[in-house]
Amino acid sequence: MGRITLDKVTKSFGATEVIPPLDLTIEDGEFTVFVGPSGCGKSTLLRLIAGLEDVTSGQIRIDGQDATMTPPAKRGLAMVFQSYALYPHMSVRKNIAFPMKMAGIDDAEQMRRIDAAAKALNLTDYLDRKPGQLSGGQRQRVAIGRAIVREPAAFLFDEPLSNLDAALRVGMRMEISELHKKLATTMIYVTHDQVEAMTMADKIVVLRAGHIEQVGSPLELYHSPRNLFVAGFIGSPK
Ligand code: ADP
Ligand code: MG
Repeated sequence: MGRITLDKVTKSFGATEVIPPLDLTIEDGEFTVFVGPSGCGKSTLLRLIAGLEDVTSGQIRIDGQDATMTPPAKRGLAMVFQSYALYPHMSVRKNIAFPMKMAGIDDAEQMRRIDAAAKALNLTDYLDRKPGQLSGGQRQRVAIGRAIVREPAAFLFDEPLSNLDAALRVGMRMEISELHKKLATTMIYVTHDQVEAMTMADKIVVLRAGHIEQVGSPLELYHSPRNLFVAGFIGSPK
């Protein structure tokens, strides 16, 4: 399960309101992309859903349950950071096992989940290497593996490919889309890259200055942009 509902959620930093009241529903299993220019509030919105920031007002529900006050580790969501968040001194296996160790999952179950994640991500031959002995794409897969083993209700990605080169980015995009098909788990993916949004999303949420300009499928936004901002953003890929 992984249906996420935001009900009149706001966020202010001091006197500055960066998210005005915002309503949004993300359906179970959907691949939703938050897209918009730098500084429009994409990361803040994702961090609010993850629980890494507290909402100023409003409610976040996960599968119908009020999660607004639930700490991040108890929300059942997994945030995928950029690959440089790996522990350099630990093997791939230990990096992937780490969140399970923290959650007190027993060794046999840890092994089972590591094997399954490694298979899904083609990392089986790399489990005993250290991150420094991997390519950028492989490191990114380990970062995703660390999220998979928690068996989350949803994956939250914040520009996970932005420090990879262009060719690798295309490959990883396809791998993440494949993974979404395999797992059928809700994924929320933040990017400022229109091509990523258009090629990966079931649903695109176009953000501008903290509010939603339009929500729709890539085709809907492409063919029926509500205004010039959406048209300019979706219609002129880099
Ligand atoms: P994006 O991810 O779309 O680039 P962010 O969510 O990072 O945008 O930021 C949205 C706005 O909130 C920006 O104006 C940013 O400066 C501000 N902001 C983000 N985090 C903080 C913070 N911890 N304190 C103060 N302002 C912040
Ligand atoms: Mg950001």
